Amino acid sequence: MLVLVINSGSSSLKYQVRDTAGGEELTSGLVERIGDTAGGHPADHQEAIDRVFADLEEELGGRGIDAVGHRVVHGGERFAEPVLIDFEITRAIERLSPLAPLHNPAAVAGIRAIQGRWPKTPQVAVFDTAFHRTIPEHAWRYAVPDALYKEQGVRRYGFHGTSHDFVTGRAAGLLGIERERFRAVVAHLGNGASVTAVRGGRSVDTSMGYTPLEGLVMGTRSGDLDPSIITQLIMRGEYTAEDLDRILNQDSGLKGLAGTNDMRAVVEAAAAGDDAAELALAVAAYRLQKYIGGYHVAVGGAQAIVFTAGIGENSWQFRLRVAEGLGALGVALDPMANLARSREPRIISAPDSAIPVLVVPTDEEAEIARATAELAGRADG
Ligand code: ADP
Repeated sequence: MLVLVINSGSSSLKYQVRDTAGGEELTSGLVERIGDTAGGHPADHQEAIDRVFADLEEELGGRGIDAVGHRVVHGGERFAEPVLIDFEITRAIERLSPLAPLHNPAAVAGIRAIQGRWPKTPQVAVFDTAFHRTIPEHAWRYAVPDALYKEQGVRRYGFHGTSHDFVTGRAAGLLGIERERFRAVVAHLGNGASVTAVRGGRSVDTSMGYTPLEGLVMGTRSGDLDPSIITQLIMRGEYTAEDLDRILNQDSGLKGLAGTNDMRAVVEAAAAGDDAAELALAVAAYRLQKYIGGYHVAVGGAQAIVFTAGIGENSWQFRLRVAEGLGALGVALDPMANLARSREPRIISAPDSAIPVLVVPTDEEAEIARATAELAGRADG
């Protein structure tokens, strides 16, 4: 089955075509700077999709798309798994827009554009939040008045679920442990970063919360901080809510501390003696170590610590720094295994490490394509 996977961001649209029979990627592309018409870019997601259609016609030489899978950031409390999209589902995704104001409207625009063009092609929504619907209430509740939850939906949702889910399955497989019995701490470290506590193969806690701002130190996001910082700065009249939203989401994290959100550049600068870069690495590694320690307790003793995504898969320096702070858990890396480059899932801990440490490359598009083919196939038959 030929599946078109669409990832609609606020101002960009990434796509991939996968043949789910063999699993291979046939073509992929990126439409950027949606809304920047002065630069000759598409005015909206409808126009962006039109460009994708034009590219696909050229690239696939007439082969038709059988189904479309959309990455949808927010599934709220309703969606615990991928769903076949119909009119009502599209409306439900749209109604969740207050929780993901930049992303859900973009996904809906993508869905409608496809419906307009290929009304008969099945479409599937795969939610970033879905994997975390198994988190128990004591972990997803914030200790705030009930009205904030009941009236405003203020609770922990969690994100990167498609990746955490995929990587959990791979890691259990690599260790030969039945997924239903698998306990692990999974760290997805990309530009956005989150860590998930996995028990019984399911998410039982995760570091991102009401929005993707909470938790780890990220490329440009602060992660955890005292909420009074925000209220105090606003009450003092020094900053507006909009200023702080931008600062905490776009100017903080590695970028705020070291001046760049690119982990490679931060690692290089630190090695060359740059104190700010060194501090950024120390803050980011320490934050992750605290989560790993906490989640080791939450899962009842992890059977694996798993690294994935851009930094987790590629930065042996950052992995080493994190592992060095986990001595109390009996964690020890095999230095050569940690250095080795590979696209394969692998173990990088020493044989006598109390907890195996793994690197498992993530592949969200493959997972979205797989789920899409499964649901579209069911709809067919
Ligand atoms: P996104 O969240 O945008 O999908 P990625 O998973 O691609 O992000 O991760 C991007 C991060 O991975 C960047 O900080 C980048 O510097 C880092 N990264 C990619 N390759 C390497 C590498 N070889 N060494 C260190 N960091 C890397």
